[in-house]
Amino acid sequence: MGVVGVLALQGSFNEHIAALRRLGVKGVEIRKPEQLQTISSLIIPGGESTTMAKLAEFHNLFPALREFVQMGKPVWGTCAGLIFLANKAVGQKEGGQELVGGLDCTVHRNYFGSQIQSFEAELVVPELASKEGGPETFRGVFIRAPAVLDVGPEVEVLADYPIPSNKVLYSSSAVEIEEESAVPETKVIVAVKQGKLLGTAFHPELTADTRWHSYFLKMASDLGEETSNALVAVSEA
Ligand code: GLN
Repeated sequence: MGVVGVLALQGSFNEHIAALRRLGVKGVEIRKPEQLQTISSLIIPGGESTTMAKLAEFHNLFPALREFVQMGKPVWGTCAGLIFLANKAVGQKEGGQELVGGLDCTVHRNYFGSQIQSFEAELVVPELASKEGGPETFRGVFIRAPAVLDVGPEVEVLADYPIPSNKVLYSSSAVEIEEESAVPETKVIVAVKQGKLLGTAFHPELTADTRWHSYFLKMASDLGEETSNALVAVSEA
């Protein structure tokens, strides 16, 4: 029977496992390449993407993670996890870091600034309402949060966030541009989906609201019989 894995190198993996447990699903901690063969879907948590990448390199996880994505298995990245999944990341120190890739977008690693610029915001996510029947708003927790700067044609934008027009925007080539705009505000993308890949710039695992986890599990189970088995109910918790 397949299981839902949570990359457990660093960051908020315990919180993801707890959120899955609230939904009656067992999340399995993944630290080694061979463990990826035992799971049907994967969550890459938030944390610090450089540290996570160093640990992933140390454990030789990148080839197996790329293969997992290329096989079309469902993967959800939150915050640092979104950075991992992006084809391109900007706003990082010279040389950058290794990425898993697969999600056809460019992310800015620290678009919203440093730790003290962390914030919470009400997001409008029509997809959560339509699929789950609940409200379409979701309280996003943004911690040193990235944002998606541009997306390829296959990528669906699930949520964006309005920013003041005087906010510094970044081009995908990491060159800072002061946007002089007559429009009072513009929007930056904070949640995306491409096939079985899901990316959120914020941290649903740090809230009591499990709708994003339900959404991902639904995505995973939509794959067919093999991965519908991935939703393993926790019998004894
Ligand atoms: N911006 C952070 C990074 O580069 C991610 C922050 C987070 O996951 N909360 O890793």
